[in-house]
Amino acid sequence: TPVIVAIDGPSGTGKSSTSKAVAAKLGLAYLDTGAQYRAMTWWMLNNGVDVTDPAEVALAAGKPQIVSGTDPAAPVISVDGQDVSAPIRTQQVTSAVSAVSAVPEVRGRLVELQRAAAAGAARGIVVEGRDIGTTVLPDATLKIYLTASEEARAARRNGELKGKEAVGLAATREALAKRDAADSGRRTSPLAKADDAVEVDTTELTLDQVVERIVTLIGE
Ligand code: C5P
Repeated sequence: TPVIVAIDGPSGTGKSSTSKAVAAKLGLAYLDTGAQYRAMTWWMLNNGVDVTDPAEVALAAGKPQIVSGTDPAAPVISVDGQDVSAPIRTQQVTSAVSAVSAVPEVRGRLVELQRAAAAGAARGIVVEGRDIGTTVLPDATLKIYLTASEEARAARRNGELKGKEAVGLAATREALAKRDAADSGRRTSPLAKADDAVEVDTTELTLDQVVERIVTLIGE
């Protein structure tokens, strides 16, 4: 039977690097659900949708055609045939994504895509996000919930942004805290640890150590 691994947690915990590495190591497919929410947000911003108006967002949610590649070595994502892997990482999208992903019609549409991707993965898949273990794939083989200290998370995020839109560590830390609050404080809150998830604190661990721990858990 296919191995389904759910990896959830807030931003800056090393979720993406970890998920890709685990998938590559075990020959599994990989799905970045955050990229899908970003792609939806990118489309809305580019098509005149007022992202602060949930009714407008809900009406538009069915329009973009989002296709996620599942190769951990090259996880491209496209919207209406256009590769948006780079533009979904801009500050503009990052600032708007929480509001867009709070709209139930958006979540409904993307959760459907996510379940289809998991069902179509012959060998199995590593799916990273916020609500994978709780909502999207509650029957996953293994559920991981990654955490890290606020300092470690801000430092990682700042490293990721370097060269692109360099901002101060303090500013990164503040933006991260704001997005986490927006992600966890809303009624349709996605960020939650499943009761049966294994929590891994990555603060003092290297990427290799985190990957090793998860691979071992999968083998058990
Ligand atoms: O993982 P990433 O930081 O790229 O996710 C971007 C945003 O997408 C999150 O801040 C959150 O608002 C939203 N998201 C979500 N549910 C998921 C994954 C991401 O609501 N499963």
